[in-house]
Amino acid sequence: SIKLAARVTNIRLSPSTAAAQKVRDLKAEGREILNLTVGEPDFDTPQSVKDAAIAAINAGDTKYTSVNGTVALRKAIQHDYKTRLNIDCSLDEICVGGGAKQVLFVALMATVEEGDEVIIPAPYWVSYPDMVIANGGTPVIVKCGEDVGFKLTPEILEAAITPATKWVILNSPSNPTGAAYNAEELRALGDVLVKHPHVLVMCDEIYDRIWYADFDACSILGVCPELKNQALVSNGVSKSYAMTGWRIGYAVGPLQLINAINKLQSQMSSCPSSVSQAAAAFALTADQSGVTEAVEVYRARRDRAHELINAIPELSCTLPDGAFYLYPCCAGAIGKTTPSGTKIESDLDFGLYLLDTAGVASVHGGAYGLEPYFRISTATSMEEIEAACAKIAEACAALT
Ligand code: PLP
Repeated sequence: SIKLAARVTNIRLSPSTAAAQKVRDLKAEGREILNLTVGEPDFDTPQSVKDAAIAAINAGDTKYTSVNGTVALRKAIQHDYKTRLNIDCSLDEICVGGGAKQVLFVALMATVEEGDEVIIPAPYWVSYPDMVIANGGTPVIVKCGEDVGFKLTPEILEAAITPATKWVILNSPSNPTGAAYNAEELRALGDVLVKHPHVLVMCDEIYDRIWYADFDACSILGVCPELKNQALVSNGVSKSYAMTGWRIGYAVGPLQLINAINKLQSQMSSCPSSVSQAAAAFALTADQSGVTEAVEVYRARRDRAHELINAIPELSCTLPDGAFYLYPCCAGAIGKTTPSGTKIESDLDFGLYLLDTAGVASVHGGAYGLEPYFRISTATSMEEIEAACAKIAEACAALT
């Protein structure tokens, strides 16, 4: 057998990927499964974006681009950051990669060494801890529960910072909770970070166009421009424009860091796909009414799912500010017994019970570092959400 590197053996396959695989396996066995594990939009990439890609192919945009991405795409990103988030940056302070996931991974690769700590507020996107471990760093998980709105506070941040801290990761709106930071909260976190100039902040804002809150989407770098040498702000086209398969993500950050990311990318992939970059540049600069319409669809599903879940006595759920997930608490089901006599000891047990008896697939809270919860996605039809919530209600009512 092959002796694999520790950077591989120390990490897990993404739990959401594993949950999605389980759904496929059960469906292949002929079971009817209501799938609430979905992590991507359930609608197709807009035709106009596809047409822009086809036009790019026909125009011969089919070769390597510059390592840091085409000027057209970086201009589109620069304009978007300025107009939406009040972030000023030069074109050289922008990098483009094969999805936000890759950009974040390479940013860690460019900066993290053995012994470096990365502060990750829990619940967190499942990939962050493994990305840190794969790059030799130490994830420092700080619990940010429902009592603090699932958000990092200045006190929790201050207490977690050590001389070894390299990064703190902020994900707003959050996967899995949908919680988003407002300008005041970001200002307060920024005040802590300016006192610790050795700490970088990684802002993952991939869901910031899927937004329901009554305040505008904001970014710590727009609110605290003095963090210019400390903040990396990433985003991408996957979620907002239903372009997950096109693999384009990007980030704005300090020139030295962006240059380091580009240097690694030059040896890893040379550049992201030229055709996908043309499509992404089009998506960012074209009429945005498609996004607005999608958000209204997601909003209606969020409202309905929120109402149906909260009507179940064993469950309770906060109202997300953005993204397409809900993160209900299932504390009321823990300790109860299923009709077949199994005691539910954890959110993992609860999720398995829902899958086995109700045919509803979700992802258990343990995967996101905060129990007892489970994540459900609203990137599926209203019919599926309503049917799934009815099944969950039945399954909960059968517990004793
Ligand atoms: N960040 C978060 C919080 C996500 O949920 C995801 C996708 O699930 C990503 C980043 C990755 O996005 P991309 O498709 O741009 O790699």
